[in-house]
Amino acid sequence: MAAIETDYLVIGTGGSAMAFVDTLLTEDPEARIVMVDRHHRPGGQWNDAYSFVRLHQPAAWYGVASYELSDWHRETSGFNTGMWSLASGPEVLSHFEHVMKHRFLSSGRVQWLPKCEWLGAEDGVHRVRSLMAGEARTVKVRRKLVNATHARIEVPSTHPPKYTVAPGVTCIPLNGLPAVTRAYANYTVVGAGKTGMDACIWLVENGVPHERIRWVVPRDPWMMDRANLQPGPDGWRRNFAYSMAQFDAMCDATDLADLFHRLEESGALMRIDPEVKPSTYRCAVVSRGELAQLRRIGEAGGIVRLGRVRSIEPSRMVLDRGERASDPDTLYIDCSASAIQPLPDVPIFEPGTINLLMVRFCQPLMSASVIAWVEAHVTDTAEQSTLCRAVRGPERPADFIYMWVETLANAARWRQNPELMGWLSKCRLNAQAVILRGVEVTPEVKDKLGAIAARAAQATARSPELLAMAAASAS
Ligand SMILES: Cc1cc2nc3c(=O)[nH]c(=O)nc-3n(C[C@H](O)[C@H](O)[C@H](O)COP(=O)(O)OP(=O)(O)OC[C@H]3O[C@@H](n4cnc5c(N)ncnc54)[C@H](O)[C@@H]3O)c2cc1C
Repeated sequence: MAAIETDYLVIGTGGSAMAFVDTLLTEDPEARIVMVDRHHRPGGQWNDAYSFVRLHQPAAWYGVASYELSDWHRETSGFNTGMWSLASGPEVLSHFEHVMKHRFLSSGRVQWLPKCEWLGAEDGVHRVRSLMAGEARTVKVRRKLVNATHARIEVPSTHPPKYTVAPGVTCIPLNGLPAVTRAYANYTVVGAGKTGMDACIWLVENGVPHERIRWVVPRDPWMMDRANLQPGPDGWRRNFAYSMAQFDAMCDATDLADLFHRLEESGALMRIDPEVKPSTYRCAVVSRGELAQLRRIGEAGGIVRLGRVRSIEPSRMVLDRGERASDPDTLYIDCSASAIQPLPDVPIFEPGTINLLMVRFCQPLMSASVIAWVEAHVTDTAEQSTLCRAVRGPERPADFIYMWVETLANAARWRQNPELMGWLSKCRLNAQAVILRGVEVTPEVKDKLGAIAARAAQATARSPELLAMAAASAS
């Protein structure tokens, strides 16, 4: 097969890759791009997610910069009533498919190789192999390789449980839940990440009484309140108060426990049970209506906090720190795949390679778009690296500090580049700009923005103390 030549070879067509290419096409009219992915359709992990998955954060600032994802309707029923509607998995996939077809491919500047695997490179020549035909071909890259695979998302449909399941026990990945056609005496959800929360809420939405749900929560999470993330005229005040509360907490906290106490008191973060100290923070977003349902499962005695499941037998479940008797007529719903993985410790800009990592707190797609802008407009590699230092992914509560310190440091460097700031002020993926959509920028708005910026600067100045607090919590 003929060798391909291109400016950029992008591995992956997940959300990060799509956001990167979309911005690069706009900002660099000369760039030619080849994209490869093992999946047959753009969207990455959204192809493997369960059918009832929904975007947790607002669609208003998710997807690619050039094309709207949100339908700007409100939820009119359910536990998110009144909030901007949550984009469904199919809507997210359709967004990326539309962009691939009607923007990337129709531009004539993007070549897409679906069901293709990147095998590696030797002497600057890359090899990709079709998973269907089995043939490998070479790709000569004139400018850079873009690695958009670092998220390494694990979802239950692609990652089977690590615990053992005895014969006679029914245990399904949560993808199988909508296909269940008979009632079980008990439903046990294994895992307390966002997928586990989604499974519990789906069961309640579909009529299962809270008393018949058991939820294995190995580690309690800190969660964000969706009401704090609502753009527009009736959302911005609360969002500004939320930003201020986080910077206040960072400025005033005496240690990590005090920081989280302040974040909880101000409504910035929430937990399942006020009596149980969370040990994870993974940027999960829920509404208070959804949280109330999770709490009702706990009030009915359904939450099991005995560590991870080791094995499931027909009449008992064995966990790290004990066991629980089970009704033999239990449906186990596996949500134990860990979804987000630790990000590699590599720079974003390396000679000949761009690694798509985050440059803002829990914003992978906006980050990819910023990196593309910097690639298109900043020629000096050192300057590119200065503008784009990697922000780690969330895992432990202390990561709240690390992620904010790294985000604020990047933001301070961005402010030195007026062109980048001008672009950001209009970027659809920039939550800070989109939050004011439809809002008249009155003196009150300007005052509040000024106050937030001043408090953020104070929090930034306190970075060494905050980092010491985070390090102390790990020791
Ligand atoms: C249930 C769930 C809900 C989520 N909700 C949100 C949300 O509301 N907001 C948010 O910001 N994030 C959310 N996320 C995080 C989400 O993962 C990111 O938003 C985003 O989808 C990550 O995209 P990505 O492109 O970085 O990675 P991926 O989607 O994992 O894409 C990577 C792609 O690379 C391909 N690939 C890997 N190796 C190779 C190779 N060698 N050759 C070819 N192709 C390869 C893979 O096939 C894959 O398609 C959610 C995650 C989950 C699991």
